[in-house]
Parts: sequence; C-alpha cells; structure tokens
Amino acid sequence: MNKIIATEILDTIKNEYIISPKPELDYNNNFELLCAVMLSAQTTDKRVNIVTKELFMKYPTPSLMKDASLDDVISIIKSVGLANNKAKNIIEMSKELCDKYNSTVPNSLELLTSLPGVGRKTANVVLALGFNIPSIPVDTHVYRMAYRFKFIKKDESVIIAENKLMKFIDKNRWIEAHHLLLLFGRYYCKSQNPLCKECKLKKFCIENKEK
Ligand code: SF4
Repeated sequence: MNKIIATEILDTIKNEYIISPKPELDYNNNFELLCAVMLSAQTTDKRVNIVTKELFMKYPTPSLMKDASLDDVISIIKSVGLANNKAKNIIEMSKELCDKYNSTVPNSLELLTSLPGVGRKTANVVLALGFNIPSIPVDTHVYRMAYRFKFIKKDESVIIAENKLMKFIDKNRWIEAHHLLLLFGRYYCKSQNPLCKECKLKKFCIENKEK
C-alpha cells in the first residue's frame, strides 16, 4: 500500500459507485448522533432511523433522556436488538453528559470513550460527523475493505486498520474515506457474495472472486 494507491482506490469508489457519500443515520444534533450510533451496533441504519423518530421526539435532550424509564426506552428501541443494554447505556450516558459536560457532547476521543457504552468507533463517528474532526471510524465494513484493499493483513486488529488507513490516506480525506469505504462495503463489496464480476477495483483487491 502507498498513498498513490490509496488515493486511486478512493477516487474510483467516488467516481464509479458512491457519488455523494454521506451518513445514512438521521440526527439533528450531536446528542442525537451519539444516541443513533450507539443504537446502530449489529443492526442497520434504516432500522435505527425508524426507532429514533419516536425516541428523539419523546426524549430530545440528555436531561429528558436521563430521567426516562428504562422499560419505556427498551420498548421504543426493541427492534434494533440488544435493547436492554443499549437502553441502559443511553440513559447512563445521558446522566454523565448532564453531570459532567453541562448536557453537551464532549469533543475528544478520550472523553467520549469514557462515557458508558461508547467505544472507539462510536466516538470516532461523533468526532467526524458531529465535530468535523478528521478521523476514520472503523466499523465492520471499513475493516473488511481495509483488508480486501490490502491496508492490513488478515486478522490484524481494528486499531491497526485505523492507523494504516490514517497513514496512507491524506488527513483532509479521512472523513470522506470513512463514508466511501463503508458505503462501498455495505452495498457492493459485501461480506458474502461481493459484486466482483463488474468490480472496477479488482486490481487492488486481495479477494477478487473472479480471479
Ligand atoms: S473484486 Fe470483489 S471483493 Fe474485491 S473489491 Fe471488488 S467486489 Fe470487493
């Protein structure tokens, strides 16, 4: 891998597949963004958008969310899966925002990851989308693309993937790269049955099924 190849990969995805890369979660502010990303583990953005409509209408701020009944939040979000844990984390996280951050979402990786239920990927999404701070959140799709495009070797860690992507992609493209790799992985280079036949990125790929 080098910076020229990384640029060519991103340009090809952008020109041929993901013309206007943008997030698919619905949110109106950083609190809603943080909640939506926390809910998005192991489910689809579409599913999250369905439940957050009601959740954010009922509990639009950290101070209302912290006093929400656990059972009510669970019942609103139950279709996203892992509802018990997710509801508990969102309520606890809201408490901390109120107690420690004046009901605002902090803008550093360290502070974000200290919140209940907020891991590194979630924190990086909030930094990138909420604060426009360059970062490359590595979810399952971005990780798979980092491997297939040979940024990392098989079974290297998520942190190594994040570091390699940041090393070979220009900082001013980190946020865009996150969207491009995620959406290309989600819709074209899927985990099972990727669309290799017509793929214009074959030459960069370790797993071209048409070889
Ligand atoms: S050739 Fe197949 S596995 Fe490789 S990037 Fe294209 S779709 Fe993905």
